[in-house]
Amino acid sequence: VFGHEVYYKEEMDSTNVQAKKLAEQGIANHGYLVTAEKQTNGKGRRGRSWSSPKGTGIWMSLVLKPDISPYNASMLTLVTALAVNRVIREQTGLESYIKWPNDIVVNGKKVCGILTEMSSELDYIHYVVIGIGINVNTKDFPEEISERATSLFIESHKTYKRSRIIEKIMEYLEFYYEQFTLNQDLRLLLTEYNQMLINIENKVVVQEKQTSFEGIAKGINEKGELLVQTEKGIRTVMSGEVSVRGI
Ligand code: ATP
Repeated sequence: VFGHEVYYKEEMDSTNVQAKKLAEQGIANHGYLVTAEKQTNGKGRRGRSWSSPKGTGIWMSLVLKPDISPYNASMLTLVTALAVNRVIREQTGLESYIKWPNDIVVNGKKVCGILTEMSSELDYIHYVVIGIGINVNTKDFPEEISERATSLFIESHKTYKRSRIIEKIMEYLEFYYEQFTLNQDLRLLLTEYNQMLINIENKVVVQEKQTSFEGIAKGINEKGELLVQTEKGIRTVMSGEVSVRGI
């Protein structure tokens, strides 16, 4: 059961780092959850930092040991986004959307970020750590991110019990995860995912490592790739070091 075993400490450098340590030591098995009140060195993608002040958000990492190919592990980020987005909608009534591949946004601002990390061999996964950061009762943000970040409190003017949200995420994540592992793809989740995808049928710019291009976002396919209609035809974008924004 996801989140049945929990490691909690008031303060950690990063819940992903702590979860990886516990997995390496053989302490954290499939479904093990690590959570803190505060991260002193919370992580985003590409070595960026994730603001994680004390007591205002959910900073947690789930350890999984999926029996799937390492090539399919990046889809776990999308599976997680689906679960978190659904819980936010159900618990707050807010119209949140998934910003492919790893964020949840409300009114165009980021309320949640997901960071998936993996230890694997060519064809075998030792473990996956899925980090989930949600701004829940946050009242204000550091200036650098104040225009791009928001919280459930800021958007709905209500405060939320974080343990309830965590419980619900574990429940839905386990449900969606089972659907995903049946075929090791997103075929059973595709319709729901694309309904929750921000910028669908809209013009986007896709920023890859060196290059960028524009097109119309058409949704994801069952491998979790984003399909973008360009003048030259449909391009499939793999999640990884990319960012997509509306224009
Ligand atoms: P982009 O949103 O540009 O595509 P990304 O999805 O790669 O970036 P992440 O790695 O998910 O970004 O998150 C790191 C970035 O998120 C930081 O560089 C910062 O701009 C922003 N950020 C940091 N802390 C928070 C927070 N608590 N809430 C919302 N945004 C944050």
